[in-house]
Amino acid sequence: MIKQQLVDAIRMLEKAGYIDHNGHCSARRDENTFYINSGAAVRGALTADDIVTSDLAGNLVEGSARPPLEFHIHAEAYRARPDVNAVMHTHPQWSTFLTMTGTKYQPVYAQGVLLGDIPLMDSPLSINTKPMGEKMAQLLGNGPAVLLKAHGVVVVGADIIECFALA
Ligand SMILES: [Zn+2]
Repeated sequence: MIKQQLVDAIRMLEKAGYIDHNGHCSARRDENTFYINSGAAVRGALTADDIVTSDLAGNLVEGSARPPLEFHIHAEAYRARPDVNAVMHTHPQWSTFLTMTGTKYQPVYAQGVLLGDIPLMDSPLSINTKPMGEKMAQLLGNGPAVLLKAHGVVVVGADIIECFALA
């Protein structure tokens, strides 16, 4: 059920052009593990079989394919935020263009207000180490999102539906 909900969310985000082929989304399973699409999965043709279980150290708990290299985004968000049960990392082109220019995010549509004042992680590098993940989680604070410069965005939510809507 939760795996299928995650699959549906990823496929809809891919269809909307936000995932850009290699984004990743997860849902908390328990305190120390989460469901996530594997790094190699084709996002636009995803099925529940492409969802693997990872622990917070990136070890595969269930499934046969590796979690994405940027699993730290998810692990450190879950570690820092007990209230978070879903994490989505996408590559929306407009937020990527915006952060390239150094211009601050400002809501101009009502929907944008839902995200409030989004902090910026001022590095275009992949979040593929624990210290990078911790820095991202620190910037996220208690908010719903953090922008990654010239790269994408990380959105968190209390559940998959809330997280998807915010993403
Ligand atoms: Zn990315």
